[in-house]
Amino acid sequence: MNGSGEDRKPAYPRGLLQGSGVDWNLPITEGLINNRGENVLHETGMRCVCVVEDTMAGQIKQTHVPRRRVTTGCPRCNGDGYIFRNPRKIVAMITGINETRERLEQGWSQPGDCIMSVRPGYQVTAGDLVTFTWGQPIPDGQIIFRGAGQASENSSRDTGLAVNEDRLLYSGSDAIWCEDEDGNRYQDGDFRLDGSKIITWLGNQPQVGKRYVIKYNAYLEWVAFMPPNVRRDRGRDLGGRVALRKRHVALLNDDPHLRVGDRVPFCARIQMV
Ligand SMILES: [Zn+2]
Repeated sequence: MNGSGEDRKPAYPRGLLQGSGVDWNLPITEGLINNRGENVLHETGMRCVCVVEDTMAGQIKQTHVPRRRVTTGCPRCNGDGYIFRNPRKIVAMITGINETRERLEQGWSQPGDCIMSVRPGYQVTAGDLVTFTWGQPIPDGQIIFRGAGQASENSSRDTGLAVNEDRLLYSGSDAIWCEDEDGNRYQDGDFRLDGSKIITWLGNQPQVGKRYVIKYNAYLEWVAFMPPNVRRDRGRDLGGRVALRKRHVALLNDDPHLRVGDRVPFCARIQMV
């Protein structure tokens, strides 16, 4: 019922829903999502109390204070400015953004975003976090500064990382390719990915201070970056449509500290839910 694109073939004959006595079959909608959908982990996201909203926002040019600031080293959000609570497993339909081209063209979405549909009556709100329960390659790979947890300003901080550990953006299950800025290649065994957000170097490794790139399969995390489309018909909720953006794109985080839970492999985490 979102059909705006005239070029898209409707899923049902036009006009069928109007005046023909045919109605939505909500149990079928829900059954479709349950049968064809995927398990995802859903957490409610909201602003962390460390976020300082500057009431002098109009004075940015004079004060050079950004309107909104996240306190460094916040133990609650670890620099995200958001906290995520109440993890629960749900079933949802996931669609790649390529199937909803009109959103790209209208500028609502950017490449790499995706759309999630949830069952009627289930509520997802803007700022929520969704984690897929299957591994997917992280696009472009991640560039890491070997030993960043102890380098420069971090040498006087306790970032929570050991000398042979670096942080990953997402819980990594296995590596696809890894090489450093000098072209040296590293393989599984030189390092270990255990499903947590840490890469542990075991032997042959890039020199401290060198950059390396690793492409790996990960349990991607997504943020509902705008209020979900509410779909209602005659007082009934037809199930929300949620636009998702990858966490590292939606929530830029330059806090060097390991986050709470970063050490927990995703598989262990989902079993606790
Ligand atoms: Zn915080």
